[in-house]
Amino acid sequence: MSIQESLITYPKRLTLAQTPTPLQKLSRVTTALQGPTIWVKRDDLTGSLLSGNKVRKLEFTLAQAQEEGANVLITCGGLQSNHCRATALLGAQLGLKVHLVLRGEPDSVADGNLLLDQLAGAEISTYRPGYYANNLEQLLQETAEQYRAKGLKPFVIPTGASDDIGVWGYVNACKELRRDFELHNIQPSHIVVATGSGGTQAGLTAGAFLYQLGAAVVGMAVCDDEHYFQTKVMHDLSGWKKRYGLDIDLAVLDIQVNDNYIGPGYAKADKAVFDCIQWLAREEGLVLDPVYTGKAFYGLVSDIKAGKYNHCSDVVFVHTGGIFGVFPQRDQFFQQ
Ligand SMILES: *Cc1c(COP(=O)(O)O)cnc(C)c1O
Repeated sequence: MSIQESLITYPKRLTLAQTPTPLQKLSRVTTALQGPTIWVKRDDLTGSLLSGNKVRKLEFTLAQAQEEGANVLITCGGLQSNHCRATALLGAQLGLKVHLVLRGEPDSVADGNLLLDQLAGAEISTYRPGYYANNLEQLLQETAEQYRAKGLKPFVIPTGASDDIGVWGYVNACKELRRDFELHNIQPSHIVVATGSGGTQAGLTAGAFLYQLGAAVVGMAVCDDEHYFQTKVMHDLSGWKKRYGLDIDLAVLDIQVNDNYIGPGYAKADKAVFDCIQWLAREEGLVLDPVYTGKAFYGLVSDIKAGKYNHCSDVVFVHTGGIFGVFPQRDQFFQQ
């Protein structure tokens, strides 16, 4: 155990994700780009229905919910939220009621993640985006109050489970990455990941330090700008440090955000991103989503082409899942 590692003691965790996930080399794409060797951490394989990064965080979040005796999980996100889908399914798995507070107006026929939320029996409340944005905290508290009034014990999980508890998910994943690097005998210079609510980046950034990965963590913003995520990631890390009484100097952590590839906005991508998703599927049999991973990977590819990784031998892209977000955007593929 390194000195850094001895700074942390993990809290309770439920075993919910299929881990360790593989680290795989993208040979044809690496050859095509003539840049660093690109490796993919297959966190899309954390489960078939639980696919993606959220289940790693929820292993810690739901352990806490159980410890507090909660019987209702309340969380929030967009209509196609991967986090809400994972929570809905895990709630069903653990015998907990789930209530989702969703942003947007649903189509008459549910698709993608929303369909799975419904199958899992989650209670769903939807709100117009403007109203949701201005009143989210109040909506969550009111929803929790409804359950308290019925004598139940609600547990509110913030957007993406990105908070002081959720940070542990990707701190823990860094232990796996260290083993992956040893196994493949590589020393990657960068770990690239899509950033949406910041918790994955926060965990990876702290974990890379604690497990001495020697790689810079780069968050590819998919919605808000660099300033927003610098603040959000530090906020989650500060809460984490305080809650668990950790003796870590957060000032030594290098929070790197790239906000050049947000495109038109959250869940909206340019044609170039859809083309990149199609290209990777054909080259490597790997499918990304247009909301998170497709945008982030397109950004990585663009930066490699621009020479930003010229002096790097290996980079790791974390595939954070999102497969069900492909289907609701089916019309955007194959456009001329
Ligand atoms: C939520 C999500 C992300 C972003 O993770 P955050 O911790 O919210 O920043 C990336 N990829 C996918 C597929 C996601 O669902």
